[in-house]
Amino acid sequence: MILEKLLRENICSLQPYSSARDEFKGDASVYLDANENPYNAPYNRYPDPIQWEVKVEISNIKNVPAENIFLGNGSDEPIDLVFRAFCEPRLDNVVAIEPTYGMYKVCANINDVEYRKVLLDENFDFTADKLLAATNLYTKVIWLCSPNNPTGNSLNSNEIIKLLELFEGIVVLDEAYIDFSSIDSFSQKLAQYPNLIILQTFSKAWGSAAIRLGMAFASTEIIAVLNKIKYPYNINILTQQQALKTIQSSVQVKDWVEILLQERTKLIESLKELDVVQHIYPTDANFVLVKVNDANATYNTLVEKGIIVRNRSNVSLCLDCLRITIGTPEENSVLIDELKIIS
Ligand SMILES: *Cc1c(COP(=O)(O)O)cnc(C)c1O
Repeated sequence: MILEKLLRENICSLQPYSSARDEFKGDASVYLDANENPYNAPYNRYPDPIQWEVKVEISNIKNVPAENIFLGNGSDEPIDLVFRAFCEPRLDNVVAIEPTYGMYKVCANINDVEYRKVLLDENFDFTADKLLAATNLYTKVIWLCSPNNPTGNSLNSNEIIKLLELFEGIVVLDEAYIDFSSIDSFSQKLAQYPNLIILQTFSKAWGSAAIRLGMAFASTEIIAVLNKIKYPYNINILTQQQALKTIQSSVQVKDWVEILLQERTKLIESLKELDVVQHIYPTDANFVLVKVNDANATYNTLVEKGIIVRNRSNVSLCLDCLRITIGTPEENSVLIDELKIIS
């Protein structure tokens, strides 16, 4: 793969903004280079534009070299940057599985890029051949999500590998839910696949949706492109500090995941007993997709009781489906009690 040929021409030739922090790296005693206020430390200083300390800590946990990590304002930022880097508006296109996370399509629309959907099969899985058949010479990116949202299942790894080997553009694999999955992350295969971009996030297993921190893992060349086009100080210092704290308590994160997986099993067992439930789809995530008799009615009844689930009934292949996030044991039993009344 030749990255220059995939990139938009203007991005390829872009001279990026060079901040004071870019021009002088290292330690000094007097900083008079960035027009900062000398008072109100530590918030007076611009934060590290490439968040090196945070990346080194993530690197240790994820076993991905810090040079292969990009950090964004949630996963939303790298999703948007991939469109901006690779897709020429009104000319290029992307291909994505359907149904999946809604943000890929929204970013395609914002960037005026054609979004081609390929319907998953009855097991919510895909084949590389079917996705490739939807591509043409202008397809720059294929979007995958595994475990997938809203379906919950992991995609077939062999088909992902086949796609990475056959497709001559970028494959984005969104692993937002990987910490809940029984299947390994693709993060240890980065060196083999220069066209792979993996997305992970602090928003789910790491319990930190509020700090807005998303990760992209990719070749150093792709990371350099993302760094070149991002806002110079895209991750603020509060987020960087809080991320370091969260990483230090990664033992607690493991406990959370363990509890949520146990609760997932319990919730599925309870759901199976209910008449209102028609089908429970297999899940590798911290949510479960459930087909009920009448999703709209069930959703509305739950809302009246102050219980909010996600009504996915209007999504392709998800007629009458609710997506239920795994909560605390107490929250899950409140939900089950209400569903029993409905049943
Ligand atoms: C929740 C979710 C994310 C997380 O997005 P952030 O911007 O990092 O909060 C990313 N991808 C998928 C598929 C998700 O469901």
